[in-house]
Amino acid sequence: MREQILQLLRDEARWTGPFLIMPEPAVFKPSAPHAHLGTEHELERIRKMVSDCTSCGLCHTRKNVVFGEGKLGAQVMFIGEAPGAVEDETGRPFVGSAGNLLTDIIEKGMGLKRPDVFIANILKCRPPANRDPLPDEVAGCIGFLHAQIRAVNPKIIVALGRIATHTLLEDTTPISKLRGTFKEYQGILTMPTYHPSYLLQNPSKKRDVWEDIKKVMEVLGIR
Ligand code: URA
Repeated sequence: MREQILQLLRDEARWTGPFLIMPEPAVFKPSAPHAHLGTEHELERIRKMVSDCTSCGLCHTRKNVVFGEGKLGAQVMFIGEAPGAVEDETGRPFVGSAGNLLTDIIEKGMGLKRPDVFIANILKCRPPANRDPLPDEVAGCIGFLHAQIRAVNPKIIVALGRIATHTLLEDTTPISKLRGTFKEYQGILTMPTYHPSYLLQNPSKKRDVWEDIKKVMEVLGIR
């Protein structure tokens, strides 16, 4: 499966390096030098690989693979951790209580429509009892997300929570310190912020997330 993902990325003429090599940190560019909008066909190829994936033990416990959803060329891509129970049942990302909060952030906060952004996760299958993803699960799954990001080609990524932020940025600084400042993932501006599930437990942190989201809106010119 890993070889298939690598081949998929090699097939893309715009790709210029091995897919797990990260860029030099903190070099801000308006967009990735290789940036190029993917096609529906390309996204479908990735979806097919994800739905057939048996690279980790989660394939035995999942009810549905949760590929992600949204628009190719979306201005903003939200990346969470892993599907929860409702997502596993439905095959859709962020549709439980944390998902409702994320939808409010997108629609009521940012004034966008949920179908106009892209929403995905680090893992495509639910870890039992919503435990943290294991390193081998992340290693087996992350190539799909890299391929999705390349196809969607967003202007900004919003990394939701510790797992998404640490995985994408390869930086294990606490999320409370990383949030609120743009970082870079493969030439794409990336805003780390708190996960909506954390906000459900800690409503006073909504104010911080709103500050982070306002910075995103400013760069997108929608504020
Ligand atoms: N939490 C996540 O990180 N992702 C989902 O899709 C749902 C809840």
